[in-house]
Amino acid sequence: MTRSVEHDKSTDPGDPSQSGPNKVLSYPRRFGHYEILKELGRGGMATVYLANDTRLERKIALKVPHKTVAADPEYIHASRTVRDGLVLHAFYKVSRPALEKQWTTMSDVMRRQMPLEAYIARTQREWEGVLDLAARALPYMDKTFGKYPYRQYSFIQGGDGGMEYPMATLLKGAGEGVVIHEWMHCWYQMMMGTNESLHAWMDEGFTSYGEARVANFLDGGQDPNPHLPAFQSYMRLARSEHNEPLTTHSDQYASNYAYSTNAYSKGEVFLEQLGYIVGADVRDRILLAYYDRWRFKHPTPADFIRVAEELSGLQLDWYRTFFVNTNKTIDYAIDSLWEEKGRMRIRLRNAGTMPMPVDLELRFKDGSRETAYIPQYLMFGTKANEEPSVKRTVGTPWKWTHPTYTIEIERRLTDLKSLEIDPRQRTADMERRNNRLELNW
Ligand SMILES: [Zn+2]
Repeated sequence: MTRSVEHDKSTDPGDPSQSGPNKVLSYPRRFGHYEILKELGRGGMATVYLANDTRLERKIALKVPHKTVAADPEYIHASRTVRDGLVLHAFYKVSRPALEKQWTTMSDVMRRQMPLEAYIARTQREWEGVLDLAARALPYMDKTFGKYPYRQYSFIQGGDGGMEYPMATLLKGAGEGVVIHEWMHCWYQMMMGTNESLHAWMDEGFTSYGEARVANFLDGGQDPNPHLPAFQSYMRLARSEHNEPLTTHSDQYASNYAYSTNAYSKGEVFLEQLGYIVGADVRDRILLAYYDRWRFKHPTPADFIRVAEELSGLQLDWYRTFFVNTNKTIDYAIDSLWEEKGRMRIRLRNAGTMPMPVDLELRFKDGSRETAYIPQYLMFGTKANEEPSVKRTVGTPWKWTHPTYTIEIERRLTDLKSLEIDPRQRTADMERRNNRLELNW
């Protein structure tokens, strides 16, 4: 949402020249280019971030509420109209002296890894390409997460790492991951306005999920599961003594390790795993419905689950209560195989503490492939076949109270070559070795 900006003529530091319909103001005499980023409350003080990483609190002559402002007289200002009514901006400085100065502030280890010339070349390449990157990503972000609704967005060099603001980000470097991550926060924080202290996973986690998908799109979309690093990160925490539930208040975690892993990684896993439960296409429709219904309305976890239930036709409160409210973990295993009356029987075991539906992939000696699917009883329904061209055997629901389950497949056991639970690794299955069985008859 854009706001009009008034300025106080009596203390005006210069003639603000407004660039087009955007809220990018120029006060060359005092601050160079700077941008109104965020209202912090009524008053005359502003937080001014300079590109050399310093931060000033100072009075600025604007009769507006508190603002976060980025300013540096040396900023290069690039902008691009990417569609009707949307201009992307970049504010950065990549002159040799500026980059030499930045490089000297880096740690010895960083400087050894990234010699000065390489640092200069990379930083120039990244900042000069940031609007290209953003323009390539935007159509995919619009389509996948809902249309970016504002008239501008700004990538601003400064600050530490990356920090999100409405319609802007402060970035130390302009690498693909951080650029996309901070921009994704416009969806999962700025538009949604979830309570980040209470539900950090709906903010950083959903943002990280978006980041991984957009990055995969930008890289050609070849990675079948760009979320695997998040799964590995979450499962490392789950195996450790530091694990805490996602319901923990951000300020009340015993360790920053548990906070950050839960907020970023387990939150990302939550959405990818939801795709396993309801089907990836349905999960994508859920994300768009969530955007339509809940942006600007401060949704809670229950609001998200309710949208997911409506779109999928499945009960999903159990997914929230197990995966969000507790430390319980997933581990499904292949238990045993045999044949009765010419048909294969497969017994599976729930070796974990959290119930899930089960996707099973069967490969046969003749090169053919089938799947089997066992709905979780708590879902009160089944997901559609995600691969309609592949034959799928659907079992009766598996009650979460039962440790084992046997499914019958209409093939001879001796035809079987391999068997795997969740072959695309979309669940945080803690012990993968018992998911797969290779038969060397
Ligand atoms: Zn973030």
